[in-house]
Amino acid sequence: MGISENLKRIKSEIPEGVGLVAVSKFHPVEALREAYDAGQRCFGESRVQEILEKEKELPADIRWHFIGHLQTNKVRPLIGKTALIESVDSERLLRLIDAESDKAGVVTRVLMQVHVAREETKFGFLPEELLEFFEKRGFESLKATHICGVMGMASNTDDEERVRSDFRKIAEIYRAIRDNSELGLRGFDTLSMGMSGDWPIAVEEGANLIRIGTAIFGEREY
Ligand SMILES: *Cc1c(COP(=O)(O)O)cnc(C)c1O
Repeated sequence: MGISENLKRIKSEIPEGVGLVAVSKFHPVEALREAYDAGQRCFGESRVQEILEKEKELPADIRWHFIGHLQTNKVRPLIGKTALIESVDSERLLRLIDAESDKAGVVTRVLMQVHVAREETKFGFLPEELLEFFEKRGFESLKATHICGVMGMASNTDDEERVRSDFRKIAEIYRAIRDNSELGLRGFDTLSMGMSGDWPIAVEEGANLIRIGTAIFGEREY
């Protein structure tokens, strides 16, 4: 099936209130254009250079989500290009994004990446680290960064119960932060989890943003 058919089918299956990031990393501009023409406006990329190249060639109303590990030396060129950086995986990176955003005179929206899966990615805050960051009110000193929620991934396994329990842990952390009224957070309302192989479980566990690549664009050629 083609990209527009895939998109249409997936969109018909996603419940209302759940946003879709079309993960277009490693796919050519023509593939993104096909998705764009089918109505998709939000795309996910994992490499700074790739966003910058594609952004130049595609319509300006695309909302780019950065979803990969962001190296500190790549932060500056990315600032001002994204609707959301979903993969803030350290406080150091957060501070750098904030400093560069402040310098550039923009506000950058971000999600905090939490790490619960066993071995799949080494990136992200451990649950207790993330809770501690908020309890210490580490967000208060941010000048030009808005923390909008949490992003996470489940273990890459066929064990559905394992996947579900990973998503449940991520959702619990998200809710613990969101529902802590003492923090006084505003606009902390995004829980991004679920990919091509596991998104229905993620949605059952409370995701309101899902990131789908392969099921839309087909296999990636690295
Ligand atoms: C590549 C990627 C996805 C999409 O994965 P698919 O299995 O192709 O849907 C989602 N989230 C992140 C963080 C990714 O790196």
